[in-house]
Amino acid sequence: MTEESILNEIESNKEEYINFLQRLIQINTYNPPGNEEDLAVEIEKYLKEVDIECEIFPFGDNRANLIASLNDNFDGPNLLYNGHMDTVPPSSLDDWKYDPLSGFIKRNKIMYGRGTTDMKSGLAGMIIALKILKKLNINLSGNLILNAVADEEVGGKLGTKWCLDIKIKSIRCDFGIVGESTGYSPLPKAIIVGEKGILQVKVVTNGVACHSSISFQGKNAIYMMSEIIQNLDKIKIPEVAPPMPESKLLKLLSSAFPNEEIFNRIYNEQPQLESIVKSLLQSTKSMNIIKGGVKENVVPDYCESIIDFRLLPGQKPEVIINALKKLITDIGYKTKDSPKGDPNEVFVYLEIFSIAEPSYWKDWEDSQEIKDFFNLVEKIYGKKPIYFLFPGTTDAQYYRNSNFCQKVINFGPGNAATMHAINENLEIQDFINAIKVYTLWAYNFLK
Ligand SMILES: [Zn+2]
Repeated sequence: MTEESILNEIESNKEEYINFLQRLIQINTYNPPGNEEDLAVEIEKYLKEVDIECEIFPFGDNRANLIASLNDNFDGPNLLYNGHMDTVPPSSLDDWKYDPLSGFIKRNKIMYGRGTTDMKSGLAGMIIALKILKKLNINLSGNLILNAVADEEVGGKLGTKWCLDIKIKSIRCDFGIVGESTGYSPLPKAIIVGEKGILQVKVVTNGVACHSSISFQGKNAIYMMSEIIQNLDKIKIPEVAPPMPESKLLKLLSSAFPNEEIFNRIYNEQPQLESIVKSLLQSTKSMNIIKGGVKENVVPDYCESIIDFRLLPGQKPEVIINALKKLITDIGYKTKDSPKGDPNEVFVYLEIFSIAEPSYWKDWEDSQEIKDFFNLVEKIYGKKPIYFLFPGTTDAQYYRNSNFCQKVINFGPGNAATMHAINENLEIQDFINAIKVYTLWAYNFLK
């Protein structure tokens, strides 16, 4: 078996792969509620064609995770592929050019639908890679493990985290790929080696209600929140060095361009690109939800908001919580960890709404594997990829932060700009290329 014959196999079965992806798009896994079991059953059916047994772990109402592997030997080397089966809902259906559950293909080039980019194409590519290796009956020394998960779009606790804790942790993992889209047009494909974390904090100001004709008798909870908003920029979050300084990030980006001059021109024309770089150099915060007030003539005793903090690798969520408490205390309000208080008690209640720790594969530059992966992507896509960091969060954090495996990257087909957006779409060629990368990578890694 050679790389050439694997590529020939892929070229001659493209139609089958595209149809398979289309079927995955047509299965509704909008989360909430998820319904990932329907998709798991479809994956099982597809892998059964080459006698790969899937383990399906159902939970809740029609939800499930799935694990499959090339063989029964887990002595290593082991390669882990992870992809999530759920998608975000489609938002306003009227705005879609094509039904988000159609997988409509335009001019044989672009597939439309919810999940085409995020991330049924990446997941399908991984499933197909597993199928090809089994079908071609290649003699490999290690194992390829596929984990198709539920729940990623709402944090992954019931998906990747559950599978890791219950099933995957006992397996040695030598390298992992989470197949989220890493296409950031106009940049070439990215290989993501780290990501920021999330800490969303619910802040509730508790004041004292009264008739607003004698407003000084009460304590207005909306005004309390307003004081917090006005002082939010004074929060003292201990600095940590970003995983890569600005010069390094720019160097990684510019490596994709023929020369510095062309890169500078494109960089200056792309304010979004500059914003991404900026977000990778610091923690950020944004208050995104605020609710308060019951009636036009009642001084409100309750106002709540959610602040979305994004953390750099090395920043602990507790540190941010403490800094927020200190800020609120300095403004002059008592903070509490319980929402309960006397009717006349003035205080601020803090609650963690959502959390995902940042993660970073520190030694990625010393790894021969990642250089080999880079070369493979360049060969298949005909263009040098870039190494980069991700300002958002993915399930890769569970692998890195649990010390299960540091060598985890994100790499996947699709155009990240269309993720979660109306008219989400995918270039078919990108999907085929990703199948080639996933398959050849497993072949070379396990050979
Ligand atoms: Zn995703």
